[in-house]
Amino acid sequence: MNDSPPGIPPPAPASAPRARSAAGARAAPAFADLHLHTLFSDGTFTPEELAGHGARCGLAAMALTDHDTVEGCARMAAACRSQGMEFVSGAELTAELDGCELHILGYFLDTENPKLQTDLKKFQTVRQDRIREMAARLNRLNIPLRAETVFALANCHSPGRPHVGRALVQEGFCANLDEAFDRFLKKSRPAYVPKFKVSALEAIGLIHQAGGLASMAHPGLNRSDDVIPVLAASGLDGLECFHSKHTPAMSEYYLEIAARHHLLVTGGSDCHGYSKGKPLIGGVKLPAVYYDRLKERHQAKAAAVENGEL
Ligand code: AMP
Ligand code: FE
Ligand code: FE
Ligand code: ZN
Repeated sequence: MNDSPPGIPPPAPASAPRARSAAGARAAPAFADLHLHTLFSDGTFTPEELAGHGARCGLAAMALTDHDTVEGCARMAAACRSQGMEFVSGAELTAELDGCELHILGYFLDTENPKLQTDLKKFQTVRQDRIREMAARLNRLNIPLRAETVFALANCHSPGRPHVGRALVQEGFCANLDEAFDRFLKKSRPAYVPKFKVSALEAIGLIHQAGGLASMAHPGLNRSDDVIPVLAASGLDGLECFHSKHTPAMSEYYLEIAARHHLLVTGGSDCHGYSKGKPLIGGVKLPAVYYDRLKERHQAKAAAVENGEL
């Protein structure tokens, strides 16, 4: 009897041998998912659960890209290792350029980098203040939700609107998450508070100084592609051409844009576990050729830094 959630195969026994890890080589064809969230931000899976799902989806490599934090990376690295998968430490930063909100993914980050740690801490503090402001606005609407309730539910340093939504449901103020967003949390609704956004150029610089590569997330969800050439000229390394919300035509379109601007190609499911319905992991599989190019670029950059060339 398969009592696993829809779309997710039942877990394999922890001790089940994996041909790929036993051989130490990657079986072809191989795929990566380079956009994933855990409960260290607004996902619902632990790193171990996420790695388990990734392995069962046949992934060869996974990147963790929680919002404004790298706290889950050490556990995710260990979990991927034990499943015979490669792991890339990452994060997703909320940024802006010319008033346009965009998300920048950082890959191969040195999670111990002091400036990265300091800046992420700052972004997290701003996120926590934002939760307090959302709670205050709800209180003014006679919804007595306490910020502490949201923090307890979120149980992470990077809380966001989904946690406020879940708290509204948990406390009985809304029937479900959709109602919470529709009545209170969506842009233009009374408890909506805009999120702090670092400038996109600063985000790219922060990622680079932490030894990482920067890729623009889900360009198809942005209002304008005009920012892509600007970012490409400012050091952006990659473009997320494959994403759960991109149609095949959109992926083709962004592959062309990536080629035109000499950007690496990245892709991932943007799985948040159960926070937005069915887990998306396994729905977007980045062909290994793109992952290998990303890895090669990172290795070349790291070697150049080592040799004092950068
Ligand atoms: P934040 O970054 O804190 O502004 O929260 C944005 C997150 O809320 C994103 O991950 C969205 O996908 C999620 N979100 C937006 N609308 C909804 C909705 N109706 N139901 C659930 N999650 C939503
Ligand atoms: Fe999210
Ligand atoms: Fe995003
Ligand atoms: Zn994401």
